[in-house]
Amino acid sequence: MLENKNSRTELSALGEFGLIHELSKHVTIKNQSTLKGIGDDCAVLDHGGKKLLLTTDMLLEGIHFDLAYVPLKHLGYKAIAVNVSDICAMNGTPAQVLVALGISNRFSLEAVEELYSGMLLACEKYGVDLAGGDTSASRSGLTIAVTAIGTGEEGKIVYRSGACETDLICVTGDLGGAYMGLQLLEREKSVFLDNPKVQPDLDGNDYILERQLKPEARTDMITLFRERGILPTSMIDISDGLASELLHLCHASGKGCQVYEEKFPLDHLTSERAKEFGLDPTLCALSGGEDYELLFTLPLKQFDFIKNDPNITVIGHVTSQESGCNMVTRGGSLAEITAQGWDAFLRK
Ligand code: ADP
Ligand code: MG
Repeated sequence: MLENKNSRTELSALGEFGLIHELSKHVTIKNQSTLKGIGDDCAVLDHGGKKLLLTTDMLLEGIHFDLAYVPLKHLGYKAIAVNVSDICAMNGTPAQVLVALGISNRFSLEAVEELYSGMLLACEKYGVDLAGGDTSASRSGLTIAVTAIGTGEEGKIVYRSGACETDLICVTGDLGGAYMGLQLLEREKSVFLDNPKVQPDLDGNDYILERQLKPEARTDMITLFRERGILPTSMIDISDGLASELLHLCHASGKGCQVYEEKFPLDHLTSERAKEFGLDPTLCALSGGEDYELLFTLPLKQFDFIKNDPNITVIGHVTSQESGCNMVTRGGSLAEITAQGWDAFLRK
């Protein structure tokens, strides 16, 4: 794999995407049925003319969640939702999930049932069947790995790679809320650790807490696309922050982008709390992550289909690769977009 067997490359030097890139160099596709392998939100498989979408996402205790403040039921819901979100990102319809659990003896049957109740609630909500999985003892903590399977209509699967110059860049919902929810939960946890007698002060923050603890996959947007005859040219879900996902779309499409800071959809509460925490709301949207909204590009001529929709915001347009990826700030200057998305290997 790596040329010099004696050398040692730290994963932190590569980052998550660098590592995936390194690994993918050694992967070749053998089966004609594998239409798309590594590099998008889902793999795309062709089985007898039917297009299947396949994705997997893992949640690890201590990395992705902290049971000090994440209720197990919410965690179960989120584990399903984040996988369904990747099916949405391909313009697909989710159908089944497989659930693999690594559980330490710290957990009781009742606790695992609580986790499962959240998973089943999400399965109900998204119309998917929990069709199997795997269970193992774990030395430490809880691991949840979910695989989701969905279907895509012929000619309507949307990849990261289809953006064209002048296409509009759109996002669903609002951004940065999940990150602010996390900041709030982390703050209350440290207050509690300093003084266990102090009750958590989370009142009035339901929206951002829900964005963090119980995110939704935007299956409703996929239905809306179908109903209105909207077909994005490219799409990705926003799991790592707008900046990182914009760069993925532009890179995969061989294009650049120009987005406008003033257009970023930010919920009022997100902005308020960000300011209280001394954070820039724009940075929360760009680098926060876990919003699970959809970022997509749309030909100009489809603008009429979305222009009055309160759930969809146009934030900019696709440019040539040579122009780079830029944000026009509120002050009118141009700032280059860099990936500061959530990256497990870089997080201290
Ligand atoms: P997403 O955020 O949409 O879940 P990721 O950034 O996790 O996507 O992954 C990007 C691409 O790399 C996907 O196509 C995914 O299947 C692939 N990938 C991630 N980890 C691995 C791995 N360990 N081996 C092979 N492919 C991987
Ligand atoms: Mg994704």
